Amino acid sequence: MKVLVVNCGSSSLKYQILDMSNESLLAKGLVERIGIEGSVLKHEKTGSEKVAIEKPMKNHKDAIGLVLEVLVDETNGVIKDMSEISAVGHRVVHAGEKYSGSVLITDDVIKALEECIDLAPLHNPPNIMGIKACQQLMPNTPMVGVFDTAFHQTMPSVSYLYSLPYEYYEKYKVRRYGFHGTSHRYVSQRAADLLGEKPENLKLISCHLGNGSSIAAVKNGKSVDTTMGFTPLEGLTMGTRSGDIDPAIIKYIMEKEEMDISSTDNMLQKKSGVLGISGVSSDFRDIEESADKGDKRARLALDIFAMKVKKYIGAYMAEMNGADAIIFTAGIGENGITIRKSICKDMEFLGIKIDDNKNNIRGKDTIISTDDSKVKVLVVPTNEELMIAKDTVEIVSAL
Ligand code: AMP
Repeated sequence: MKVLVVNCGSSSLKYQILDMSNESLLAKGLVERIGIEGSVLKHEKTGSEKVAIEKPMKNHKDAIGLVLEVLVDETNGVIKDMSEISAVGHRVVHAGEKYSGSVLITDDVIKALEECIDLAPLHNPPNIMGIKACQQLMPNTPMVGVFDTAFHQTMPSVSYLYSLPYEYYEKYKVRRYGFHGTSHRYVSQRAADLLGEKPENLKLISCHLGNGSSIAAVKNGKSVDTTMGFTPLEGLTMGTRSGDIDPAIIKYIMEKEEMDISSTDNMLQKKSGVLGISGVSSDFRDIEESADKGDKRARLALDIFAMKVKKYIGAYMAEMNGADAIIFTAGIGENGITIRKSICKDMEFLGIKIDDNKNNIRGKDTIISTDDSKVKVLVVPTNEELMIAKDTVEIVSAL
């Protein structure tokens, strides 16, 4: 069964086509500048050079149309006919409290996702546009929605409720939702495989550390807590996002700097995090380079990031009464050798010890803890697209 996986942003569209008979990637690509001058599709057939096709694309339907053309193209294509695509899996950010798992997309599902637009105004509209565009161009192909929030729907109310007047939860659904669910689910299942255990028998702490970062406490295969909350702004220090701060700072800074709500939101989302602290970059490679040259604020940004991760690992171990393993994934988690080392430093008391030699790897499944470490530490490259494709196959096969 061949599955197309689609992830739509406001002016971009990422796709992968996978042959699920052996879970192999046939091709992947990215459309950028949809609806803006200079639209371009960058397509890469597995084993071939990347090609760029520049063509005006005024909306997501044009973009999907071009992706389908390329997929059947004689030189760059990987299928003979569109009918070879058995199903489409869509990444959708927010499903509110409605879905705790992936679902076959129906009109009711689209309605439910539209009702969540208020909760994810930047993400859900393009996700929905992508679904509708695919439905128009592939009316007979089943579509599946895979939601970033779904995995965390198992969080108990003690984890998801804020200490605010309860009526805001009842009236406006103000609660913690959590994100990166597809990634946390994928790496925790993969880690269980690598440890030769069933997810149901494990307590795992999954650290998705990338431009956006979050940690999930996964007990017996279910998310019981996570660092992102009502929006992806809460929790860890991120590339440009503040993560946890005292909410009283907002009024204070707004008054001092005479800032309005939207510029304050922009400051918290785009100018904070390690970029804000270091003043160098949001990219950890640049910050590490500056820190190594003696830049004190760059060093501080890295130290604050690592300390935040450490704090939540400790918190989640307390919450779950221990942990069997800690997983590092995403750009920084998979590649950041020194960051992993500083996070795990001085954690022997909690049973966490990493082996510097084993830790000296990037981007491959590896157990990096010492043999006598009570808590195993693993690097597991995430693969959200494969998880989306697996869910899609499961749902479509049951039709
Ligand atoms: P992601 O959002 O998962 O693509 O992760 C992006 C982040 O991963 C950026 O901050 C990169 O600097 C970071 N990253 C990628 N490669 C490395 C590396 N070799 N060492 C440290 N950080 C890295």
